Formats: sequence, C-alpha cells, structure tokens
Amino acid sequence: MTPKLAERIEALPQTPGVYLMKSAKDRVLYVGKAQNLRTRVRSYFGGGDGRIQVPKLVRRIADVSVLITPSVKEALLLENELIKQHRPPFNVRLRDDKQYLGLRLDLRPSWPRLTQVRRFERDGALYFGPYTSSGALHQSLAQLRRIFPLRSCSDAGFKDYARRGRPCIEYEMKRCPGPCVGLVTPEAYRELLSGTELFLRGRSEELVETLRERMEAASGAERFEEAARLRDRITAVEETVLRQQIVTDRRIERDVFSLARRGGELQLQVLHVREGRMIGAADHAFSEVELEDAEVLASFLAQFYAGDAERQVPAEVLVSVEPADDGALAALLSERAGRRVTVRAPQRGPAEELIAFALRNAEAALERRLAARESVDAAAAELMERLALEVLPRRIECYDISNLAGTLAVGSRVVFEDGQPAQARYRRYRIREAAAGDDLACLREVLTRRLAKRESEPLPDLLVVDGGRGQLAVASALLRDAGIELAHVGLAKERDAESPSLRVKRSGGLKAERVFLPGRLNPVLLPPSGRALLLLQRVRDEAHRFAIAFQRDLRRRAGLTSILEEIPGIGPGKRKSLLRALGSLKGVREAPLASLAAVPGLSARDAEVIRGFFDALRSPD
Ligand code: SF4
Repeated sequence: MTPKLAERIEALPQTPGVYLMKSAKDRVLYVGKAQNLRTRVRSYFGGGDGRIQVPKLVRRIADVSVLITPSVKEALLLENELIKQHRPPFNVRLRDDKQYLGLRLDLRPSWPRLTQVRRFERDGALYFGPYTSSGALHQSLAQLRRIFPLRSCSDAGFKDYARRGRPCIEYEMKRCPGPCVGLVTPEAYRELLSGTELFLRGRSEELVETLRERMEAASGAERFEEAARLRDRITAVEETVLRQQIVTDRRIERDVFSLARRGGELQLQVLHVREGRMIGAADHAFSEVELEDAEVLASFLAQFYAGDAERQVPAEVLVSVEPADDGALAALLSERAGRRVTVRAPQRGPAEELIAFALRNAEAALERRLAARESVDAAAAELMERLALEVLPRRIECYDISNLAGTLAVGSRVVFEDGQPAQARYRRYRIREAAAGDDLACLREVLTRRLAKRESEPLPDLLVVDGGRGQLAVASALLRDAGIELAHVGLAKERDAESPSLRVKRSGGLKAERVFLPGRLNPVLLPPSGRALLLLQRVRDEAHRFAIAFQRDLRRRAGLTSILEEIPGIGPGKRKSLLRALGSLKGVREAPLASLAAVPGLSARDAEVIRGFFDALRSPD
C-alpha cells in the first residue's frame, strides 16, 4: 500500500456508506457497503477485523473513494446502483440476462391471462416462479387451469371468438369461463384471478379460507350449484398443495440461500418456501470469485432484494453464512415489509435443515457444472488442436444467413460461452443493403456491422460462418481490411457430389462436416462423432434455429400492421402512403404489383420488394 493510499484510508469517515475501490487507471474494481467505512476498508489491508484478504484485489487498489449515507440500509441501495453502473470485476453480479421460467399475470387488461415467460421484467405485472424446469412449470399451469380456469387464448384469438359470438373449445372443456362472449361477469373473473394470485404466491391457507367463506355464503343463500363448484375448487387446491414438496413443517415464509464453493467456482441455491412448501427455486453460478463467502452473499443479497422493489419479502431470510452487511439487509427488508424481517445463518433445527437441503442442491448443481465444463473444455481443447488455433475457443460466435423464398434475407448471430448458449448476446440482422438472394453479400453486410461494434462488443475467440470457401473468404477479407487477427472458420455440410478426395466416411450415420480454414485449400475433416465437431455443430445448428425462429415470427405477425416495419427500405412515410392508398394491411398484402406501384411515393422497385415480401411469407418453409 502506498503511503498516499494509507493516508487516504486513515482519513475515511467512521460512518455508514459505500466505498469504491479503484485501480490506477481509475477503474472501479469493487463496490462495498459498511457501517463503518474506515474500519471496513482498512480490514482489506489486514489491519481490521482479521477477515480473509483478497490479494488480487488489494494488489490492484490505487485509490478508494466513499459515499456517505444516513444508514447502512441506504448504503445497500446505493451499492446496488453502483454495481449496476460500474460492473466492477470483483463483485459478483446477479446477471439480469439470466433466463427464468416463470408465469406472468398482468392484472391491468380487462380479461387478464397467465402467460409463460423466460424473463422477469419490472413492468407492473405479477411474476411467479422461477420454476426449476419446464416440466414443473407445465404441471403447475395444468393444476391451476383445473382449479382457476382463466382464458388461455391470445388477444387476437379472444377478439376473433368475440366477433363470431361463440366461445372456443376451452369453454366446452370447462377450462375457460368464456369471457370472450360474456359468459362470465367481470366480478366472477376477478375472483378467479385473485385465487390464482394467492395460489401462486403459495398462500394456500388463506385461499382455502376465502373459498370456504364464499362456499358457505353461497350455500346459505341457496345457490347450491355455486357452492358445489367452490367445494370442488377447495378440494382441488388441497390436493395440489398436498403434492407440493414439503421442505419444513414450520408454516413460516422463508427465502433460503446456500452457497457451495470449489475454489473460485461458486453456486448459489435460492429456495422460496411459503407455508412450509417450496414454491420456487433457482440457482446462480459464478466463476473466478475472489471474495470470501460472507462478502459474496452480502453482495448477492443486496442485488437480489434491492434491485427489485416488487420482490416479495419473506418473514425470514436464511443464509448458509452470515453476510458481511452489518445488518443492512434486515433493516431494508423490515422497512419494506413493515414488520421485522430477520436475516440469519441457523446452526440447528428445521431452519438449519433447510439450509442443508439448499446446500445439497447447490453442491449437486456445482458438480454438474464443473463436469460439463470439463467436457466443454475437452471439446474446446480438441478444437484448438485440430484447427491449430492459438487460443482456447471459450467464446464462439456463429453467423448464418437465411432468406424467405429468396426475398427477405436475415442474418443471425449466436454466441456460445464455455459451451453454453449466451442468449442475451444473440442478434438478428435485417439485411439493409445486400440483395436477398446474394448470400455472400448478405454475410459481408452482417459481418461489417458486427466488426463496427467491436469496441462495445468484444470479439470472440473463434468466429464461425455457416458455409464453405466463399463465406470464409468474405470473413477473411473483412478481418484483414480491419486489421483484426481473429481465428475464423467456415463450417459446411458434406456435399453428396463431393470429389473423391474430399469424401468423408460416415460414422454411425452421422453427417460429416467440412471445416474450412483460412489459407488452406482443402477442408479439415473432423471425426463425425468427436467432441470438437459436436461443439461446432451445436453452435451452427443453434444459429439455424435462431434464424428460422425469426422467419416464423414474421409469418405469425403477417396479420399485424407492424409487419410492414420489417420490409426492407419501406420507412414510416411509405408505410403511411401504403395504408392510406390501399385501405388496410389486408389491402396491402393482397394488392397486385401494379396497384402497389401506383401508390404515391413508391417506386417500382419498392412495389416489387413489398410483393415479394408478402409472397415469401405465404410460401411454405
Ligand atoms: S372461450 Fe373465449 S376467452 Fe376462453 S379461451 Fe376460448 S376464446 Fe378465449
């Protein structure tokens, strides 16, 4: 520690606040909060409370700055904001691009419905889950539909049946009360919604009690049919609850966090327990973590709760190690809930059993991840060796071009990190300039746009283009012109009419692939069942899948006016003219070429593009 830094630390206030540890280049390395700023910061340098130091971090600290807060609770909120803002390398970061399986219920529209989601947004809707698997989610949804039949149709479907004046089959099957044609009152539908909400929140006792009261009232008023329906609903709720996994016999609401660790590899298991039953679970993985467990948990919990004001606050937060947060979380959660919320690391009893249960899950998930990593590492190492790459290809990007009947061209990019798809980094490129049938020109356009973003989006270890020599040459030329050294290959399926010298043996019926490398005439033939090829194929197939999903999406939206935005070269002005001249989207979709060309402001080329676009959407895959 330099004398200047030592001086600075000694001058820090002994008040609550947030500290930012910075490198010589003024980069924020770590953000933390403390009850006593001076004591906490000093402790990193071995002079404080004897906690394990973080040598790599400490070695890089050149400066420390602090922000004072009225209490450690505000420090927790500020810490969360600063972590989001600076993304410090030594903080564990709760990834906001993580995908969850969950259910969404937006209560604002007139006839709300439950939808399945892969992302939890902060959009005013209610979110439930996360579910451990899609099986668990579907099971929960099926149970719910049986007990609380809400509509399941899309808004377009709803309008369609409303227009026809009759409900769909869901009504016949008693899985929807038929709001589309007014077969249920808004009040009765609201009751189904509140039941759904209570059920998903795990508040089954309250739910059963409400239903029972309503059943008694109905039967008292001699509405026997309604009373019988409510009785069946109560039985269904009770049966479903009985089947849910019981993790404790205490009826308390708890969030449980257990941390498993192997060196710098961490796995955090989160369980949401309501009325003794596990209603949600998720695990989070972190790599190359330097901080000690207490610090990791404090940082994680701050982001988990402070980052989401809508998150339900349980009565207790159980942790496998006491977080180093000076009571900040308990204070914040107590304030939010308007009652006392405790954060503790139990040592015995049912609470400790819960921690142990979560820990077993965390250990198992960590084990699986490390085993998968080993096999991914082996595949990457094999790829490195076979393709003579200089770097282990941990991050791979793959590009694919596809078009709809030679008209609408789209580029897709998928990214794999450590053998896993990093979906938040996927991208679709609508081709703006190149002609749709010219795959090489389309690829050139996509890669040019990609390389232009290399400052904000770091380049991968290996760039894969779907295709042979032609595609590879496009990538090589662009990289050369931009002065970028980057490993890149072309991956092409074996052709049937291959020259005998290139013919590859098939093994176990697997289709062989050819990998084209820059500066090499003949492709490399990877063993069809080898790990390296399997990894490359997975990446390429995902790029295909992603491109096709986009085309499907376009077809699905063919009936919506927004589809016009997808037509290359047709801006807002031309879209307006089209709708004005032809009356509706249907009019545009069905207009012959001559009518399109006659629309004011449109050229003959525009008309061809539009006609071709809608013809392509109609053609089969
Ligand atoms: S009955 Fe009506 S509201 Fe219910 S799912 Fe069918 S279309 Fe939708």
